[in-house]
Amino acid sequence: MGTSNIIVYVPPTLFCIVALAFLLLWQMKIFSAWQWSAGFAQTALGFVLSTFSIEPVFDAFSSGLVFIGAAYCYGSALLAHFGVQQMHRERGLFVLAYTLVLAYLVFIEQSLVYQLFLTDMGFAALLGLAVCMAARKASRPVDIALVVASAVVVLDSVSRATFFTFFTASSDNFADFANSAYNLAVHVSTITVCMIFPFTALGAIASAAIERHREDAERDPLTGLLNRRGLEHAVAKLPRSELPSGAIMVCDIDHFKRINDNYGHAVGDKVIAALAQDLQRAFGGSGYVARVGGEEFIVFVPSVTLQDASTLANAVRISIGERNWAETGVIGGITVSIGLSEVIPEDHALEHAFLRADSALYKAKTGGRNAVAVLDARTTAIQPQNDAQPQQMQPGRLTA
Ligand code: GH3
Ligand code: MG
Ligand code: MG
Repeated sequence: MGTSNIIVYVPPTLFCIVALAFLLLWQMKIFSAWQWSAGFAQTALGFVLSTFSIEPVFDAFSSGLVFIGAAYCYGSALLAHFGVQQMHRERGLFVLAYTLVLAYLVFIEQSLVYQLFLTDMGFAALLGLAVCMAARKASRPVDIALVVASAVVVLDSVSRATFFTFFTASSDNFADFANSAYNLAVHVSTITVCMIFPFTALGAIASAAIERHREDAERDPLTGLLNRRGLEHAVAKLPRSELPSGAIMVCDIDHFKRINDNYGHAVGDKVIAALAQDLQRAFGGSGYVARVGGEEFIVFVPSVTLQDASTLANAVRISIGERNWAETGVIGGITVSIGLSEVIPEDHALEHAFLRADSALYKAKTGGRNAVAVLDARTTAIQPQNDAQPQQMQPGRLTA
């Protein structure tokens, strides 16, 4: 296959374009993108070396190194993408052993057939190891596609190495490589089946980036809790067609403006973050906690009765009132008021139950704070449940 053949320009050009595309994704703070970029850039370089010969022995050694370097980078990128341990030491030792054998085959044995066999098998082993480790973590369709495409590349290398080493009589002379059937086979398989590899990698990391941005948009940066949109999305994902039953609480710090005024905004932020942790500890295991305003939180606990939710809310209110806030810089106690209601079948959105819980919160505030007020959606009666004598409200009325 001579250099005049257009086919030899296709793989390096495509891999250069893909390497640049990954470099752009890396600029967008997608960590594994630089490893993909380095892998595809080295693959492009390997094809350039195999086409524009400098010196046959040098070409054989340098392309052997470049392809194992590419396999290392692809492996690192796959492991990083799937959050698997990188195993740099083990993989580094493998590359070292490979390099020593490569040097022996190229400079001492001077065997093109063995050099190609080693390069293909070394590439397949290094990438195959990462594929095997990543496969267990692939669950999204794009990730499964990436694992399959990577496995295809591994199989392509193994089958080519086996075929040309054991089933054909090829020249063993480095100078014959450019026009060899092996070189043609590499180009054809790269342009056809192996091209799914860079594109599935692009798809997988781009979709992971979009997913991460969506998750960021649904989280509150100060507390790490869900925000209102995140809560609605999390509840919508619950495996039910209609709104699930359960209790909704709105928790608001009492006289928080005073904390800001007395200690400063930074201490106020610490109090918000500490309370977020308390709520997450109390309800995170069984429900969802979201920060929906300055110092206002929503808790949604699915499949719990109003009575049980009321007991839980009161226990949390008491523990918050008795908590030591010194770590935040606040001396003395902080209390919260909680409005509680339940999701009823007539609710079409969580917002409806939230509005009732908010009405109950208003009642807890006007009733003296440091209280849990329950709005029973069926009777619309509000019952403050603080330490003071419970006060029975009139059905359908929000004020005493
Ligand atoms: P109440 O007992 O009636 O709830 O009184 P309050 O002073 O807590 O009143 P309110 O809940 O309306 O106070 C909200 C205050 O929270 C007003 C605002 O200055 C403060 N705030 C809002 N967002 C933040 C924030 O992110 N950090 C801090 N430190 N303060 C915030
Ligand atoms: Mg408040
Ligand atoms: Mg508030």
